Amino acid sequence: MMEVTLTCEECGSGIHVIPNAEATVAKCDVCNKEASVHFTAEHEEGILKQCPCCERKDFYSQKDFNRKIGVALFVIAAILSIWTYGISFIVLYVMDLILFKKLGQIAICYKCNTIFRNVSNIKDIHGFNHEMNDRIVYSDHDFDGKQLEHH
Ligand SMILES: [Zn+2]
Ligand SMILES: [Zn+2]
Repeated sequence: MMEVTLTCEECGSGIHVIPNAEATVAKCDVCNKEASVHFTAEHEEGILKQCPCCERKDFYSQKDFNRKIGVALFVIAAILSIWTYGISFIVLYVMDLILFKKLGQIAICYKCNTIFRNVSNIKDIHGFNHEMNDRIVYSDHDFDGKQLEHH
């Protein structure tokens, strides 16, 4: 089942929703602001072609990595390395490999930063492209789902 995390326009909190074609709004638990969503039968099947929030078709994929946990682990390893002569960094490296293997790929909407987990067509979604991001964010360009190729 695809999981969608929207960012609340009002307070910036994450709003977690499961695609449902009958739902038209997603409500923020923190400030009760409602965001309109447009889910389709495709979304219910985990296929991501169009953003349910902004209706754009441009997404990028990345590892589902929790930066806070990563930083906390690094700090712990740094402290421990004083007594372990750096062995804790090797442990951290191994843990990183294990954690990264467990983590799946997520898709993110360039335009509205909505996060999608358990996307069945994640392999069709390319990694982050700076040029596309700049053109979408700063000049409101719509690539309509076409990946920008470099020549
Ligand atoms: Zn909110
Ligand atoms: Zn979007």
